[in-house]
Amino acid sequence: MAKPKSASLETISNTVSSYYPDAKLELLTKAYKFAEEAHRGQLRSSGEPYMIHPAEVAQTLADLKLDMASIAVGLLHDTVEDTHATLEQIQKEFGNDIADLVDGVTKLSQITFKTSEEKQAENFRKMILAMAKDIRVILVKLADRLNNMRTLEHLSPHKQKIIAQETLDIYAPIANRLGIGWIKTELEDLCLRYLHPDIYYRLAQTVAKTKRERQKYTDDFSEVLDEKLKEYDMNAQVSGRAKHFFSIFNKMERRKVDFDQVFDTIAFRIIVDNITECYKALGVIHASYKPIPGRFKDYIAMPKANGYQSLHTTVIGPAGDRVEIQIRTQEMNQVAEGGIAAHWKYKEGRFDTRSRENVEWVNRLLEWHQDLSDPNEFLETVKIDLFAEDVFVFTPKGEVKQLAHGASPLDFAYAVHTDVGHKCVGAKVNGKIVPLKHRLKSGDTVEIVTSTTQSPSKDWLKIVRSSRAKAKIRAFIKEQERDRSRELGKAVLEKALRAYSQSLSKVEKSGELLKAVQAQGLRSPEELWAGLGYGRISVDDLIPLILPKEALERKTEAAKAEDESFLRKVLNVAKKRGESRNAITVANLDDVLVRFGRCCNPLPGDSIVGFITRGRGVTVHTATCTKAIDNDQERRVDVQWNVRENKTIKRTVKIRVLSLDEPGLLAIMSQTISGCGVNISSANIRTTKDKKAIAIFDVEVGDLSQLHKITSALEGKKGVISVERVRS
Ligand code: MN
Repeated sequence: MAKPKSASLETISNTVSSYYPDAKLELLTKAYKFAEEAHRGQLRSSGEPYMIHPAEVAQTLADLKLDMASIAVGLLHDTVEDTHATLEQIQKEFGNDIADLVDGVTKLSQITFKTSEEKQAENFRKMILAMAKDIRVILVKLADRLNNMRTLEHLSPHKQKIIAQETLDIYAPIANRLGIGWIKTELEDLCLRYLHPDIYYRLAQTVAKTKRERQKYTDDFSEVLDEKLKEYDMNAQVSGRAKHFFSIFNKMERRKVDFDQVFDTIAFRIIVDNITECYKALGVIHASYKPIPGRFKDYIAMPKANGYQSLHTTVIGPAGDRVEIQIRTQEMNQVAEGGIAAHWKYKEGRFDTRSRENVEWVNRLLEWHQDLSDPNEFLETVKIDLFAEDVFVFTPKGEVKQLAHGASPLDFAYAVHTDVGHKCVGAKVNGKIVPLKHRLKSGDTVEIVTSTTQSPSKDWLKIVRSSRAKAKIRAFIKEQERDRSRELGKAVLEKALRAYSQSLSKVEKSGELLKAVQAQGLRSPEELWAGLGYGRISVDDLIPLILPKEALERKTEAAKAEDESFLRKVLNVAKKRGESRNAITVANLDDVLVRFGRCCNPLPGDSIVGFITRGRGVTVHTATCTKAIDNDQERRVDVQWNVRENKTIKRTVKIRVLSLDEPGLLAIMSQTISGCGVNISSANIRTTKDKKAIAIFDVEVGDLSQLHKITSALEGKKGVISVERVRS
């Protein structure tokens, strides 16, 4: 379909007339004349008249069977940026629709991707937004890039590399996502030529050298396939062609092999009349040649996100080699080449852009854009989506959901509905209960179990693969953190005020609080709470702004004592009896009844948080324990390890040692632990089928550094594979 040879007003008009007979070609003539006039005297880097470039771009757009406005914009796309022509002129001459498109393309052209990561993210975001506004802007830009890549040889090697890399990173994936197969393929091959010229030219040479034998092989096997299909009264078009260089290059990279070891360099395509025939043809082929397991893909039942449909299979060919075969209908073939444009319906000479069902992908991007305010997060999200392969799974009702490769039940839950995701506690895959982190495979039937008390946690971000789920979880956590820090900030201020015998409602009424809010450049008390909660604003700095001098001087020892008695009242515990002092101080009291969370079993040295349990003292968790994060933050108190007392206190910790199953190793491990001056209170060992041993020790350690000493001593022993602390 590519037409690298000189395009002209005549060739463009002829192409348009071929698919749109009623086209009012005057528009194209007018746009051509306008561009020719504007670019008069300008030359390209090749030394040719500039007008060749917009004409080629317009020709590509006509080859894609786009609407009149898009093709006119192809002709006009560089006038505003590179000539004296203005947007106002274009608007006057060609109307708002075309002027808006030219404006969109001009703005996109000013985006460059080679700057810092952050700028790249922001630029990419602009690009997606432009695409969401009118997909035709991106189609013109793709055609523009294609022509620039075709003529890249006239630029400096440095520029060539930059443009080729950008094309490979951004434009080829977009062409793929939009389903325009031939543009994607051509862009990738051109990129290879400039990014890895050595490989490109070696491939080109080898292919040229083996051309005759390859052609013979292709013709012979095509003929064989054709005959086999005829035996079953099937009317099919069989063709074979060399795979493009970039895909061969990819295969070489992936399998770490050289060109002569990549055998399946030719792909065969069978085009039949209808879907039934597709499956029939597949049956004929599988009956004649042994299919390679795992290589059959049914993109007819489950089309790709870009609308691509086809059956793919790889079989062992007559010479014992691998042969890739694609089977599809004529219509599917058109979609595979032309992408989204093949779906568009004409309405009075232009596309009915509202019925663009295939731009769902772009709409999804727009949704994430609203959820993610950080451009880097957005870029990461989009990149995952641009490059990932997909899996297809079913709802219990048989509806198909398309998910990113490696997706978990959580991804599925979010694909069903945001609320289903937020409330997901588990899943059944093909009737069996699986953990949330389970990886789904194509064909799985997934049923989600929800609970009203469930809510997303940060850990979920490690589990999910799809951009949508990530965006939704991040948004939820951010909102929750904001809420929590507001509550925390308010509580912090309230507590601080109490020390001065003041209250929040008092300073709110007096208007002093509002003054402080304004003095900090904030808009509302809520922003102040958040600032305090996040620790951006210090309460000690804030108090003098709120309270009058007299009140500030009134903070006495008595007030501090009151603090203590308040805490005691809440805790409802008397001073502990006996000699043993606590390993923990709670809000500077070192004699409060303390328990350790069995979930995380903190050790001196771990960073910790405490939660008040009425009548039962304080429960201590490690700061990263999920229980601590889920606990009611209002009950949270500051706790510290009581350094002076730690030496005398021992805590039991479980460690798991994975090792080779060798005689005497248990004895060596026990000696190593004892050698660190640590007591072992229990030891357990079992062996695994693969000749390994798992030993579990309960050891009594004083603090984290002592534990580290043991683990590194154990790790240094021959036969030991890994050592880890068990938290359960
Ligand atoms: Mn251009």
